[in-house]
Parts: sequence; C-alpha cells; structure tokens
Amino acid sequence: MELPDFNKAAYFTKRTLDDRGGGITGEIILWRMKGEKEFKYILDCPFCKEHSECESIEFEKKPYKFRCPACDKIIRIGKLKEALKKRRAIEKKKAAEAAK
Ligand SMILES: [Zn+2]
Repeated sequence: MELPDFNKAAYFTKRTLDDRGGGITGEIILWRMKGEKEFKYILDCPFCKEHSECESIEFEKKPYKFRCPACDKIIRIGKLKEALKKRRAIEKKKAAEAAK
C-alpha cells in the first residue's frame, strides 16, 4: 500500500508500538483522507511481528484501537503525549540498566 498525499489527509500518524514489556517492537502508520470516514493502516505488530495492511477500518472514538489481524491482540493508538512519555520512561530505564 502506498502512503497518502499528506495534503489530502485529514489525519495522519506514525507511531512506534511497544509490546507492553518495555520493548519497542512494532510500528503503525494510520491515516484518514479528507471526506472519508474510513481509516487505512500499515501495521508491524509489536506482539507477533506480522506485517498487515488495512484499506478500510472505522473507529468510534478515541483512543483508536483494533485487533491485530494476525494474532488478535489489541493495538491501541494512544495520545501522542502519552506515547512520548512512555517512550521516555523506557529509554530512561534502559539508560539506568546500561549504567549498572
Ligand atoms: Zn499481531
């Protein structure tokens, strides 16, 4: 699947995804075009590492979440701020471990 023309996207996000065990093991690109209700995504699942693409998915409300088509685990697109906070905490932890 090709990435959208950013000028025509109403929503676009690219996030790293963690496996809830502290590792950044996946990534998602999620977007919605202007005038459309459905989102599209390209996912590298943090849990099963499968690559999947979806042409049409609808979300009721934030936080956006859906199940990985391969392993059925829930992929949650949290707020960007929270994602950054989480990532910083992980990096801090890693730095602390490396300093031991
Ligand atoms: Zn999966």
